[in-house]
Amino acid sequence: MIGKFVIPLKLKLFLPVMVIVITVVALITLWFVNRSIRSFNDQISSSLALEVQTIAKMFERENILKLEKVQTNLRVANIQFFAKPLVVYDDSITIEVENQRTNQRHEAVLPVWVHGGERLYGHHAFVDFMEEVIGGTITVFQKIDSGFVRVSTNIRKSDGSRAVGTYIPNVSPVAETVTQGEVYYGRAFVVDDWYTTAYEPVIIDNEVVGMLYVGDKEKDMDELQRILHRLRIGNSGYPFVFDNEGTLLIHPEREGEPLRERWLIDSIVSNKSGLLEFSENGHTRTVAYRYFEPFELYVAATVVNDLENRALVRNAVSGAIMIGSIAILLLLFFIYRFTSDRLYKYLDALAVSKAKLADAEQALKQSEKLAHMGQISAGIAHELNNPLGVITMYSGIVQDELPEDSPLHSDIDLIVEQANRCKHIVSGLLNFARRNKVVATKVNIVDFLEHSLNNVIIPKNIKSAVHSNLEDPEVMLDKEQMMQAFVNLEKNAVEAMPDGGELNIYIRGDEDTVTVTIADTGTGISKKDMDNLFTPFFTTKLAGKGTGLGLSLVYGVVKMHKGGIRAKSNADPAQGPTGTQFIITLPRTSS
Ligand code: ADP
Ligand code: MG
Repeated sequence: MIGKFVIPLKLKLFLPVMVIVITVVALITLWFVNRSIRSFNDQISSSLALEVQTIAKMFERENILKLEKVQTNLRVANIQFFAKPLVVYDDSITIEVENQRTNQRHEAVLPVWVHGGERLYGHHAFVDFMEEVIGGTITVFQKIDSGFVRVSTNIRKSDGSRAVGTYIPNVSPVAETVTQGEVYYGRAFVVDDWYTTAYEPVIIDNEVVGMLYVGDKEKDMDELQRILHRLRIGNSGYPFVFDNEGTLLIHPEREGEPLRERWLIDSIVSNKSGLLEFSENGHTRTVAYRYFEPFELYVAATVVNDLENRALVRNAVSGAIMIGSIAILLLLFFIYRFTSDRLYKYLDALAVSKAKLADAEQALKQSEKLAHMGQISAGIAHELNNPLGVITMYSGIVQDELPEDSPLHSDIDLIVEQANRCKHIVSGLLNFARRNKVVATKVNIVDFLEHSLNNVIIPKNIKSAVHSNLEDPEVMLDKEQMMQAFVNLEKNAVEAMPDGGELNIYIRGDEDTVTVTIADTGTGISKKDMDNLFTPFFTTKLAGKGTGLGLSLVYGVVKMHKGGIRAKSNADPAQGPTGTQFIITLPRTSS
């Protein structure tokens, strides 16, 4: 009964707990993994930005170096130029010149210069020599009306010829600076490209008559290219450089090609540095970029996040799964061990007490039935009492008056005996039925119990005594009913000690209650009988000996006095001395 009830409940209880624990741990694990990936992505972004910053610094340094180089070159060129005599003649030639900005051609008057014994115009010995010494570009300019015209240069036009005859117009930062006798440093568009440049005036008789130029191609990025090509970021990342048009200037694979992601340019151009994240073939790619003003280009770095994450994710997930599983197992174990176990025990106890309750209910129903029966039997007993009286009286007379040698003696003896037995049963039934009202009077409980022993036939081999430690022995109780109850208990005790023993009555109490314990050293009551003691008609005694009504009468009387009764007993000599104690607690006033 109990087993069937508990096992499915055990499962029913544990399964939801298991599901909850697994769900919670799994969610925490997922959250943890997610968080690590997120923080790792943040780390990727910030390290990419840092990478780009570093590359931009490299460009800057390159730029500064270029400028310094150009300054040095200019000094060298200057010394070399003036190391040879420069003679400026009064006569001049007319040449065709070309405005380098507008490409307009016209004629111009050019004074004749002789440098190192050679006419300078169209001769390039000096600039070619200088190119060998310092590298880069170098040009000698002469002043003409509309600007400064190249007379000797190593700069080539797109067709390969030297750029002699092209001039920088007066209205330009270079011409304006140099005309005032100052050196111009900076970026300049020379023929077809941007250069880091320096222009120095050539002054004769306090008059600017020409200028010397040295320059280094700005986007001469061989060195940077070499460095950046070698640079790798993480597992999947690399730096790259592209210009305003989106042409890749430095890239591990696609140099010279336009940037594939045209839209990148559009979103980049609006803000000059930043971070982009977009998905590409199902991967998340991060690009950090920064505009480098002096070279008019963008330096950028990129990684594919997922490829960077993969190892981390794998580690995080497998680690988390392991920790999660261990956590789940531990949690389940502890829950099972400390909660469920206790709960099951509790439920077990609950089931037991439920069963007991059911039994009690059963007993109650039975006793209700018995109450009815009591009433009926009381009626019957009353009706039977008179005819039985007649039977016992007349059978007694017949017994007495029968001749001594009559063969009917054994018959009449049987009739008398059985009639007495009937009387005994009927009086038992009457007692059982009568207890329904308490008429309480003040009683000295000690005297009362001592007196009760006089109503029981106690064999010589049984020692009986009453022990009391009461200061105030006064108790309110129904004398007649209580006497019956105690006598019944004492009779039971005596009947449980066929081989003799001790019958002790202990009386204890306080202001409110009195406890009477009737203890014998008899056979004891077996465990299985304990539950049935107070059930009417329960008896272990032979038919004719016990009615099984004694203890139910006692129970009824005690309850009517608003008291309590319980039994303690040991029937197993292996467990210690055998014997039974009935412990009755009575309020001093039962009303
Ligand atoms: P009866 O005495 O007529 O059998 P009771 O109601 O007085 O009926 O007692 C019920 C049963 O309880 C007895 O048959 C006996 O088995 C057991 N019992 C009662 N008191 C004792 C006792 N003091 N020692 C051992 N068994 C007892
Ligand atoms: Mg009895």
